Amino acid sequence: MSSVLLAILATVPTMAITAAAVHGAASKDIGTIAMADNPFRDPSTLPYQLPAFDKIGSSDYLPAFEAGMREQRREVAAIAHNAPPPDFDNTIVALERSGQLLERVSNVFANLNTSNSDPQMEKIDTEMSPKLAAHEDAIWLDPALYARVDALFQRRAALHLDPESLQLLERYHTLFVRAGAKLSEADKTRLRTLNEQISSLMTQFKQNVLKASKDGAVVVDSAAELEGFSAEQIGTAARAAAARNLSGKWLIPLQNTTNQPSLTQLRNRALRERIYKASIARASAGAADNNPVIAKLVKLRAERATLLGYANHAAYQLEDESAGTAAAVQEILSHLAPAGLMSAQHDAAQMQKLIDAEVAQSHGQPFTLQPWDWAFYSEQLRKARYAFDEAQVAPYFELDHVLHDGVFYAAHELYGLTFKERKDLPVYQPDVRVFEVFDADGTPLALFLGDYFARDNKQGGAWMNSFVRQSKLFGLKPVVANNLNIPKPQPGQPSLLTFDEVTTMFHEFGHAIHGMLSNVRYPMLSGTAVPRDFVEYPSQYNEMWAREPAVLTHFAKHHQTGEPMPKELLDKVLAAQKFNQGYATTEYIAAAMLDQAWHQITASQAPTPADVPAFEAAALRKNGIDYAKVPPRYHSEYFSHIFAGGYSAGYYAYLWSEVLARDTGQWMHEHGGLTRANGDYLRTKVLSRGRSEDPQVLFRNFYGRAPDIAPLIEYRGLTLPSAVASRATAAAAAGTPP
Ligand SMILES: [Zn+2]
Repeated sequence: MSSVLLAILATVPTMAITAAAVHGAASKDIGTIAMADNPFRDPSTLPYQLPAFDKIGSSDYLPAFEAGMREQRREVAAIAHNAPPPDFDNTIVALERSGQLLERVSNVFANLNTSNSDPQMEKIDTEMSPKLAAHEDAIWLDPALYARVDALFQRRAALHLDPESLQLLERYHTLFVRAGAKLSEADKTRLRTLNEQISSLMTQFKQNVLKASKDGAVVVDSAAELEGFSAEQIGTAARAAAARNLSGKWLIPLQNTTNQPSLTQLRNRALRERIYKASIARASAGAADNNPVIAKLVKLRAERATLLGYANHAAYQLEDESAGTAAAVQEILSHLAPAGLMSAQHDAAQMQKLIDAEVAQSHGQPFTLQPWDWAFYSEQLRKARYAFDEAQVAPYFELDHVLHDGVFYAAHELYGLTFKERKDLPVYQPDVRVFEVFDADGTPLALFLGDYFARDNKQGGAWMNSFVRQSKLFGLKPVVANNLNIPKPQPGQPSLLTFDEVTTMFHEFGHAIHGMLSNVRYPMLSGTAVPRDFVEYPSQYNEMWAREPAVLTHFAKHHQTGEPMPKELLDKVLAAQKFNQGYATTEYIAAAMLDQAWHQITASQAPTPADVPAFEAAALRKNGIDYAKVPPRYHSEYFSHIFAGGYSAGYYAYLWSEVLARDTGQWMHEHGGLTRANGDYLRTKVLSRGRSEDPQVLFRNFYGRAPDIAPLIEYRGLTLPSAVASRATAAAAAGTPP
C-alpha cells in the first residue's frame, strides 16, 4: 500500500494522486467487462514491469482506477474482518500487499499527467482526486482495521520483529493516527469532507497554474526586441510561436519561478519588464485566478489541523518531518536570512554602479535597479568578475556528454553502476530514453527513464518519480524517471546546456539513485519514501559531483572538437557558482517563509481572496525578508509546491536537506572524493535504506555525528554574522539539524 510521495521535485509539485481504498457497491460484472483488455489489469510483462506505454490510452485510466479501488476495498475489508486475531503478516504485510492494481494505474497516471498530459487526463485528474482522497480515508479511518493495527502496535515489543518490520508497523500506526483514526465518527465524517475539498482545490490550483503559465507566454512582434538572444534561441521562440499559430512572431514561454531565464539575456528593458510582470501576474486574476483557491485552501487546512488536535497545519505537517516543529524551521530560516540578504544587497549596490556607468556612457535616462533588471545586470556583473558568458560555456555541456560522461560516470565511479540504452522498449513520447542499469557485479538493477525536453503538455521544472518501486516483498526492481524542461533544440542541432541545467541533471539523478539503489523489503519504506526534509538530501548531495574536477573535466568537452574545456574557463565556471547566492538564498527563504506563514494560521486568520496579496506582503515584512529587488522564488498564486503538491509547510525542506548534503560533501572530500569505497559506504548506510530506519539515525550512522551548518555556508559562498554562526553550531551540537 502506498501513501507516499510519487514525485520528487526540484521545482514542481507532487501529484495528489497516490495509491491506497472507498465504500461502495459498484457492480463487479461491469467492472470485469470494462477491465477485460485494460493494460493495467495485470502486471506488465515487460522487463522490470515497465508499463506497456504503447498499449495505454487515456481512456484506460478511469476503469482501472475504479477497478483498482474496488479491488483494494475488498482486500482491506478482508483484512479488517479477518477472523483470526491480528498478527504482523495477516494485518501489516497484508496491507502492504493490497492495492497493487491501483498502484499500477496511479503510478503511470501521476507520471504521465505531469510529463505528457492531455485534456482527457486533466479531466480524469479532476474527477479522481476527490475519489482517491475518499478511498484513502476509507482505509485510514476504518475502525476495525485501526483496532488491529493498534493492537499490534501496543504489543510491538513482544512481537520480536526484525528492525525493518518494526519500522513498518510503527509507520502504519503513525499514518493511521495522523489520518484521524482516533477521531469520533462525527469528526471522521467532517475530516472526509475536508480532505475531499482540499484535494479538489489542489487540483484546481495546479490546473490554474498550468493554464495561466501557458496563457502568460509573452508574444514578441519583432526579432529586434530579442537582442541578446542567440540565433538558436530566436529560432526556438519562432517555432514556439508557430506552434500556437502565431507564425511570423516570437513566443517566450513562462517557466515556473518568478524570475525568468530569458531576463538574463534580453537587452530590451521594456520587454524584460513585460516578461517579469507576466510572470508575477500569473493566476492572480481572471479565469485562472488562484486567490480564491488559496483563501479556501489555507482555511480548510487549518480547520483540518484543529480537528486532528494540532495548533495549525504547519504543526501537523512538521511533526512527521525530521525538523519536528515550526520553531525549528523558523530558526534555520532566520539564521540564514541575514546572510542571504546581506549578500544580495551588496550585489545590488554593485549592479547599480554598472547601471549608472552605462547610463552615463549612453547619456540615457537614469534608473534604479528593478526586479526585472536583476538577472540581466547580475549576468553583466558575473561577466565582469569571471569574464565568460554562458554562450562560451554551452558548447562544452552537450546533453549526451553530460549524461554519459558526467551523470552516469559519477555513478559508475562511486557505486559501480553501468548503463545500457534500451531502444527496444516502449516509451510514452518519442523523446524519452530508457536505460537499463547494472550493478557492479553485472546484476540487473533498475530501469532509468530520461525525459529531458520541455513540452507544452509537461509541467515546468524538474523532478524524479517512480513507475515501479523496489521491494523484496514483491521481488520488484525499480523503474524510475527523471524529468527536466530543457528547450528542445532544432532538428539536427545538439542540446547545449547551461551549467544550471547540468546541475539539475545531477540533482534529479541523485533522486533516481536513491530510488534505484533501494534495497528494502517493504514498498512503504522503499527508496525516496522518506520525509520531505530528508528526500532532498541524496539529490543535493549528488549535485556536488557536477562541480568536482574529477567528474567535471570528464564531461566538459566541446561537442564538435572533443577538446576539454580550457582550465582557465573551467576555474571561472566553478568560481562563478558562488556568485549571486545572495539572491538565490533570499528568494528561496522568502518563499519558505511565505509557506510557513500560510500554514501557521488558524482558520479564523485566513484572509479573504481579495486580501491574499496583502497577507503575503505582511508575511514577508514581518520576517524581515521584504526586499523588493529580490521577490520570492514563487508568489503565492503560482506556488504549486505548497498549494498543489506535497510541500505544504515543507518548502524549507530543501535547505534542511542541503545541510546534510553539504556536510556529506565535506565528508567525501575528507575521505578521498570520488571512490568506490566512499560510494559504497554511503550506499550501505543511506542510499539503499529508504525509510527502513529513522532518517536521522541513518545520517548519524553514516556520519558519526550530528550535521553541521558550516559546509552549506561555504558551498554557497556566504558568510554569517558571528553571533548567528555560534548559535547554529550550538544547535548542531545539540543533535538536531539547524
Ligand atoms: Zn529534488
